[in-house]
Amino acid sequence: MLGASTVMSFYRTYRPRVLEEIDNASVRQSVELLLTKPKSQLPHAYLLSGPKGTGKTTTARVIAKLFICMKPKKNGAPCGTCAECVAIADGRYMDVLEMDAASNRGIDEIRSLRDGIALAPSLGAYKVYIIDEVHMLTNEAFNALLKTLEEPPPHAIFVLATTDPQKIPGTVVSRCQHIPFVRASTPDLMHALARIVKEEKISIDEEALTLITGNAEGSFRDAVKSLEQVSFHKGNISVAVVQKTLALSESSRRETFLAHLVAHDGGAALRDIQKLVQDGVDTKAFLVDCLIELERRLVSDVMTKKEGAIPSGLRDLVSRLTQAYGELRSSPIPQLPLELAVVEYCENKAISIKQKEINASPITSRLSPVNKTHEEINNPTAGLLTLEKLSEHWHDVIDELKPFNHSVAGVMRSTRPKDVRNGIVTIEAFYKFHQEKLSETKIKEMIGTILNKLFGEKVKVEVVLGKK
Ligand SMILES: [Zn+2]
Repeated sequence: MLGASTVMSFYRTYRPRVLEEIDNASVRQSVELLLTKPKSQLPHAYLLSGPKGTGKTTTARVIAKLFICMKPKKNGAPCGTCAECVAIADGRYMDVLEMDAASNRGIDEIRSLRDGIALAPSLGAYKVYIIDEVHMLTNEAFNALLKTLEEPPPHAIFVLATTDPQKIPGTVVSRCQHIPFVRASTPDLMHALARIVKEEKISIDEEALTLITGNAEGSFRDAVKSLEQVSFHKGNISVAVVQKTLALSESSRRETFLAHLVAHDGGAALRDIQKLVQDGVDTKAFLVDCLIELERRLVSDVMTKKEGAIPSGLRDLVSRLTQAYGELRSSPIPQLPLELAVVEYCENKAISIKQKEINASPITSRLSPVNKTHEEINNPTAGLLTLEKLSEHWHDVIDELKPFNHSVAGVMRSTRPKDVRNGIVTIEAFYKFHQEKLSETKIKEMIGTILNKLFGEKVKVEVVLGKK
């Protein structure tokens, strides 16, 4: 399956490896300033802070190379090509130890790190400790780290990275050279894209690149990801190509999907999911994105306390999607929990609307005139399959459908067979989006195949919209 890893390969391949390639201009200048002093006089601790996707980890590795590179350039900058530089870039150099504080919050890790620090580096003159998401450390772990920062052995260098510098004790911050990362500016993003365009020999218009950088919201990761997506286009990449691709970008997918849900257009929302799966989008990540967005709306609605602004629908949607998230791990089909959540959410609303309509209408209009349906039901069909037989085995039909398409099977649960005659099986759906979904040619064919398999009869399938 195509996943995030496939789409992110440009981002990995073209991570800045040397100082000149650091795309963030202000960061590049801060690191360049380090070249003006001999290594022995450089600070032993650095704090890189800023939003995700702005290049902190990459820069941390460039700083590590600055100390370790065996063939530095004339100005002292790392070469990026010696065995040491390459190993550091790949994260496999013995004396550059990378640690993710988000998963190692404990004091034990910091203690063992502290014990290891006393030992001399195994290869060169320096040992570099890169601690990512350092704000996640516990207070005890921070205290242990602080003791180390107070008296570091001459060979130890610390590069701490964080998205949340406010959470780091001032005592730690004061011992570090702070390099703040801001969201990438347009020239920064251009700097990053130009390098890839050149290396990959991509033919793309200047305006098309500008459109990509404009949409990246200051994130190198997003800009590079978009460039990679459009790079699959054969021939020159114009603004139109980029526009078409960006329309499929993650954020616009999410907005479209949520808009369909808010409008209770289950059919459209199911189609959105189908498209996600086709395009190899990670369903889990997509679901998390949706929940983050809904949580933001929920909180903002509650905070502003607009009258009637805390719709129970929004709450219901959040809880259904959260439940779907919990079921992801055990689901044999990644998108299934999401699809079921959509069907149930939209169905639930449809029922409550219907209920309201019924309650609001005068009793006379609720009595529909007797139609001929009942007589028709009793008419024999040309073949052996009868409505009775089909009704009796409707659950079996649904069970047989499941392995082919879970979401269709889910929709079929709220339908019933209406008529069997002249080789045509008519299914009655009670929601427009169910009827639309089941009326797709390939779905009708699939149901026909199942019916043939179960009852040994070739039939055509029709789906009508009925009233409950
Ligand atoms: Zn080197």
